[in-house]
Amino acid sequence: MTTRVWDYLEEYAAERKDILDAVETVFSSGRLVLGASTHGFEREFAAYHGMPHCVGVDNGTNAIKLALQALGVRPGDEVVTVSNTAAPTVVAIDSVGAKPVFVDIDPDTYLMDTAQVASAVTARTRCLLPVHLYGQCVDLAPLRTVAAEHGLALLEDCAQAHGARHDGVLAGTTGDAAAFSFYPTKVLGAYGDGGAVLVRGDDTAARLRRLRYYGMEERYYVVETPGHNARLDEVQAEILRRKLPRLDAYVAARRAVAERYAEGLAGTGLVLPALAPGNDHVYYVYVVRHPERDRILQALREHDIDLNISYPWPVHTMSGFAGLGVPAGSLPVTESLAGQIFSLPMYPSLAPAVQDRVIGVLREVLAAL
Ligand SMILES: *Cc1c(COP(=O)(O)O)cnc(C)c1O
Repeated sequence: MTTRVWDYLEEYAAERKDILDAVETVFSSGRLVLGASTHGFEREFAAYHGMPHCVGVDNGTNAIKLALQALGVRPGDEVVTVSNTAAPTVVAIDSVGAKPVFVDIDPDTYLMDTAQVASAVTARTRCLLPVHLYGQCVDLAPLRTVAAEHGLALLEDCAQAHGARHDGVLAGTTGDAAAFSFYPTKVLGAYGDGGAVLVRGDDTAARLRRLRYYGMEERYYVVETPGHNARLDEVQAEILRRKLPRLDAYVAARRAVAERYAEGLAGTGLVLPALAPGNDHVYYVYVVRHPERDRILQALREHDIDLNISYPWPVHTMSGFAGLGVPAGSLPVTESLAGQIFSLPMYPSLAPAVQDRVIGVLREVLAAL
């Protein structure tokens, strides 16, 4: 049987009654769109974070897109972010007509090199968009300083960092807004697509609610600024409500998987994930590094172990972003990393026996290189 890098079927078997009850709750509620489940989940997700507002949307990409618009990012504005991220971070910036400006990453944590941000700011910069990548937080203190100095918005991409903390502070509670995805693989995952934005400002929250609802107030049928249809689905919202109280347990299970890897793979020459000072990692993915990456992947595939790469192509090297004119070689750490990283199986219900087989095969493969 193929060992997959992510799987939800064991979790579903354990939670099946609750998930199906969530579906039944919505179907029999008499209200299938923007009902009690969406509004309830928004309250509970905001409360988990101690934030005043949460606005549920249809996916993480639109969470970023609508948040950028609500924060006042306009066509032609610049948004500072990283190229070592999931493409949707950059797709969302592009979709509002703004220009992504990339800084390089830290060679150990693979997170945004915050020391490079100030020099990336120009007269057109409107927003800083750090990505809490792989499950650990970017230190936002230096970004807050730059944002305050230049009057910029700070938007956190939290799609990979539900429950992650820096110096005890939860991801998504420092910036002006924070975008979450509930894509099934994420640390808090739906059974389909979903997303949300945490927001501090009342006006920004009100703008977000209009932006996801054609540009209208929910009970006032006039469009003042045309928006989108980007509502969180009621069924997914109810499922997320059921899963939110288990978020800390999912994270604990992921940490146990990470610890088992750290013990099992010590001394093999594989570079294991580095924790930045002050960080509590939630291990959305378990990313390791080795210069012989492609040979390792090939050998593991022969043992029916299917690994993933997050991400094989830095966004600025993708053909769809050639128009940005960011030449190859301009982000050396990002570019050299892309050829060396790969992700080991990681999900809360990963069985220790399955994990031990992955560790055993990896040790053999590495020893034979
Ligand atoms: C998953 C992800 C997104 C996009 O979320 P979707 O729900 O798939 O649209 C955005 N940014 C990052 C960093 C992600 O990992």
